[in-house]
Amino acid sequence: TAGPRGLDASVMIKNLVPESEQQRVPGPQDPVRLSQNATTAHILTIRWTADSGWEAPQISPYSKIALEPTASVLHYATESFEGMKAYRGYDGKLRLFRPRLNCERMRISNDRVCLPDFDSVELLSVITTFLALECPRWLPDPGSNLYVRPTMIGSGSALGIQRPREALFFLFAALFPQSSSAKVSPGIKLLASDPEQIRAWPGGFGYAKVGANYGPAMTAQAQAREAGCSQTLWLFGEDKLVTEAGASNFFVIWRAKTSNEIELVTSSLDTKVILDGITRRSVLALARERLTASADPDVLGDLKPLKVVERAFTVAEMLDVSVEGRLIEAFVSGTAMFISPVAMIRHKQQDIEFPMQVTETGLEAPVSHYSSRLKGWLEDIIYGKVDHPWAYVI
Ligand code: PMP
Repeated sequence: TAGPRGLDASVMIKNLVPESEQQRVPGPQDPVRLSQNATTAHILTIRWTADSGWEAPQISPYSKIALEPTASVLHYATESFEGMKAYRGYDGKLRLFRPRLNCERMRISNDRVCLPDFDSVELLSVITTFLALECPRWLPDPGSNLYVRPTMIGSGSALGIQRPREALFFLFAALFPQSSSAKVSPGIKLLASDPEQIRAWPGGFGYAKVGANYGPAMTAQAQAREAGCSQTLWLFGEDKLVTEAGASNFFVIWRAKTSNEIELVTSSLDTKVILDGITRRSVLALARERLTASADPDVLGDLKPLKVVERAFTVAEMLDVSVEGRLIEAFVSGTAMFISPVAMIRHKQQDIEFPMQVTETGLEAPVSHYSSRLKGWLEDIIYGKVDHPWAYVI
């Protein structure tokens, strides 16, 4: 007999809400949009069982999910998720940014929490079918985006601690409350985490995008807010290694002590305590291509070339750099925060401040222009101002 079925996008079942019965799409200033996550009219679901494998993907009216109180995810955090965005280009086309990487990362996350594997090409195909259906109505405006949340849970009843034998993949798309990005930009403030609050550790699961990483991080997030900061800068170990920030990766640009070279520094991934961010990877690739000494001088423009460095570094090292006046810029990178400059890191011994200035528009921005240049290049790609292989047109 044939084994369990693999995921197959071609057998999709659609049970759609007639256009006339769909709710009104809240406009940009609509309080609904600010007060809650306004989801689109449909939800994508795919069921899996250990015996039969993946069932037909289904697009159906957005609704609650029914689970047994004994379901695996509710007790043992058998959950993984992804965060991506659909972008409406200035040319009217719909794009995703390197979406195969999200699907591949979900396979890695699933493996860590015993959720089933799948073919990432098939998953991407299912996701694009869903977005092609929702986006004409929910994402009409050029230069805007819609948040997309693929999720997988151990859905079967399982009080014994065991590998889930039933799982559910679901995906919804939502208008991200606009206030979240407005509040934090420009110049975000980070609170360096308390040694009692460790996000991830070697042998743990910090490299995986699993819900279990985020619930326990909310205490530190609350401490950050109380300290007047918007996110946590996650430190790790006795040396206080700088790892990542909130749900974003962290970059710092400084002048090296002895060589006087400018360096773009971010923590390496080898300890597996950091999420391998897709924006992080893209920043590193663009910086290597366009900001180093071998880059096209026309592309580099008025920026001095820098060296791209992935290595472990400590908060003490950043403090030294700050005291010696060698700090240039810092920023966080991620799908939600995109590229956001950091104005200050609050650390118990001493605050670290980054050189900021007030621009013509009255906003605060870094004195140096590396992060704004990187941000501009990424925006050009996601909104289709340039053709680039990272943009996946739907
Ligand atoms: N780190 C963490 C802990 C995150 O949750 C995220 C968001 N997925 C990131 C970094 C940034 O990853 P990406 O660039 O893929 O959104």
